Amino acid sequence: PTSAHLIDGKAFSAALVDRVAAAAARLEAEHGVKPGLAVVIVGEDPASQLYVRNKGETTVKAGMRSDTHRLPDTTTQDELLALIATLNADDGIHGILVQLPLPKAIDSAAVLDAISPDKDVDGFHVVNAGRLAVGLPGMVPCTPLGSLMMLKDQLGDLTGLNAVIVGRSNIVGKPMAQLLLGESCTVTVAHSKTRDLPGLCRTADILVAAVGRPEMIKGDWIKPGATVIDVGINRVPSADPVKAAEGKTRVVGDVAFKEAVEVAGRITPVPGGVGPMTIACLLANTYSAACRANNIQPEP
Ligand code: NDP
Repeated sequence: PTSAHLIDGKAFSAALVDRVAAAAARLEAEHGVKPGLAVVIVGEDPASQLYVRNKGETTVKAGMRSDTHRLPDTTTQDELLALIATLNADDGIHGILVQLPLPKAIDSAAVLDAISPDKDVDGFHVVNAGRLAVGLPGMVPCTPLGSLMMLKDQLGDLTGLNAVIVGRSNIVGKPMAQLLLGESCTVTVAHSKTRDLPGLCRTADILVAAVGRPEMIKGDWIKPGATVIDVGINRVPSADPVKAAEGKTRVVGDVAFKEAVEVAGRITPVPGGVGPMTIACLLANTYSAACRANNIQPEP
């Protein structure tokens, strides 16, 4: 059996970070504007702490200003909203990201909506969701944006292709559908109530899995030669029973990779596929926010 081409998200994202870093350096040299990203984290969730540390390090590597605001999990909603108001008013900060999940006592939607849409580098604000839906320029959520970049890099023109997206969340599934519609794909969005999901997936030239269920999408759900983008990040017990007993874990996607790789034409591995693109797109969004805030045309 043939084996699918693996889409190398690590290399692709490293190249994107380099391009953004070069553009940011020119922005600073020519216009005196250094893009700045503020990341806010509330509480001690270890996975979130790791994400935030990675984001900060990559931002600095790209020559941008990185501020991290670490708040205790006793922080009130009003205190968090006050910090966001300060960051909204700070001309040196062009992007604001609030790491999710927030403590239960805080209304996440209210917090996300308090971020100025122009600084909303996550693209979660309703104004940015609306801009994307009607085809206006705005901030596009990083994970779907990175997924689209990889698809265009791999396939070129996507016009007329059948795209099936499994998952309808506001942060991945829905914006992914909007982006692919914008590329003139024929888009179907599947979810937990979809009938005959395997049959539907088999119609897809482009299959995007954003479900959050380990290895749910099997090899025989995939149309031979299709391009598979696996957004899922699921922590499961280690494959080695001894290590599993010690509590060791590993990360798998929403696609049963070993089976899928025998059928698909191209596929993103997990880890090393979509994941690294998310941070790269965050920097790209911060750079373009800095340009827009200063009425400068961003480099493509
Ligand atoms: P959500 O939990 O918000 O959404 C999951 C979606 O999958 C829902 O629309 C749900 O349907 C659907 N779904 C759940 N079970 C089934 C099923 N059995 N059959 C069909 N559809 C199903 O997840 P997110 O969109 O936030 O994230 C999805 C995955 O992507 C997760 O693994 C997450 O960790 C990962 N992720 C990775 C990122 C990265 O690469 N950096 C960034 C963000 C997410 P319904 O609406 O009907 O409930």
